[in-house]
Amino acid sequence: MLKVALEYATKNNASHITQFSVAMSAAADESEESLKFHFEHVTRGTIAEGARVDITRVPVPVKCLECGNDFEWTPELIACPKCASPRIRALPQDEFKLTSIEVE
Ligand SMILES: [Zn+2]
Repeated sequence: MLKVALEYATKNNASHITQFSVAMSAAADESEESLKFHFEHVTRGTIAEGARVDITRVPVPVKCLECGNDFEWTPELIACPKCASPRIRALPQDEFKLTSIEVE
């Protein structure tokens, strides 16, 4: 994820990355704090050192195998809100996704 951002910045002749926006899955095990800590660690010594990290939690898309209903998963949800079937499956989703960066 960081590598993509650095490549982007290099291509655009940016000397500094000042901010990252990251979409984080609601199902990701990692906490926002630990993700920020991880960023601080991996950006040390790069042009992204000291960049701000904004994390947005995004819902997990889920599909009901019974009625085909698409909905968003929350930790409280254990069955389809439409037909009440427990046969629901989370659709593939990145745990973390870089949505934007700011450079200067
Ligand atoms: Zn259903």
